[in-house]
Amino acid sequence: MPRVAFIGLGRMGRGMAGRYLDAGFTVALWNRSKAKADDLIARGAHWAASPEDAAIDADAVVSMVADDEASRRVWLGKDGAAAAMKAGTLAIECSTVSYAHALDLSRELRERGLVYLDCPVTGLPDAAASGKLTLLVGAESDDLERARPFLAPIGSTIRHFGGVGSGTVYKLINNLMGAIQIAGIAEGLAIAEQAGLDMKLVLEAIETGVAASPQVLRHSKRMAARDFTGATFTAALRHKDAAYAVALAEQLFADAPVMGRAAVAAYARAKATAPDEDEGKMIEIASRPK
Ligand code: NAP
Repeated sequence: MPRVAFIGLGRMGRGMAGRYLDAGFTVALWNRSKAKADDLIARGAHWAASPEDAAIDADAVVSMVADDEASRRVWLGKDGAAAAMKAGTLAIECSTVSYAHALDLSRELRERGLVYLDCPVTGLPDAAASGKLTLLVGAESDDLERARPFLAPIGSTIRHFGGVGSGTVYKLINNLMGAIQIAGIAEGLAIAEQAGLDMKLVLEAIETGVAASPQVLRHSKRMAARDFTGATFTAALRHKDAAYAVALAEQLFADAPVMGRAAVAAYARAKATAPDEDEGKMIEIASRPK
């Protein structure tokens, strides 16, 4: 049986780790908080004392943690996975990290003889639990071919953008565009409410109009109803992704990315008030009356 070490059991990681169990892999797990592993251990996964411990004898190590800091800690920290990985082992980073971090991490892991793929994902936790994520891969083609058996349980679509880092570039622009759209929905709805429009009619018009992207459809009704239950993507994560995307844009362009910076500022406010709540709470930021 192929052996995978899975690190990070948040909203996304728990479902992804479960997919490896469903596919018959031998799975070693580590998460900062052990309680999140209980159901997976009951299903046959092995608990490891550290990322390093999880990585012993693994054919591939997959990480799905919050951000650059968490990623650095689980791969390269004092008991990080890299310490136990044998040369040639696959290192698959599925977390959304900054472009600079993806390049640094890949360099450090390659210097240790490991095979690095950046593999951020799109899809919500339900897609993670059902193996229907889209995997945004940045890797050498040969490395991707070797990794395919380890990607198949978690993703139904693989988009190979090019060499290491390219998957992360796409993921960051995808989530920056999402951040701008969500902040835009919040502003539009807030104005409509404050101006006294019939919100049922507004929502109907939005849904059938040209501004109705999937992101708009996902958020508009919930925002208007102030329904923030069942958070799938938090304000803190959206802020992080937009900030990483703007940092990348600032490396590439002379002029500041105006919309991106506005979205980062808006999400900094949302994060300051409710970091772990649904990103749709942006409506509460946008709708404070004068
Ligand atoms: P989450 O539920 O907040 O889970 C975050 C995970 O990171 C947890 O396992 C957490 O451990 C761990 N973590 C945080 N800081 C850490 C640190 N300093 N050291 C070690 N571990 C740390 O987040 P998520 O929604 O699963 O997202 C995970 C990644 O997927 C993020 O990069 C996110 O941007 C990306 N993503 C999310 C979605 C989505 O819909 N949620 C979709 C696509 C991509 P604890 O359990 O101990 O807190």
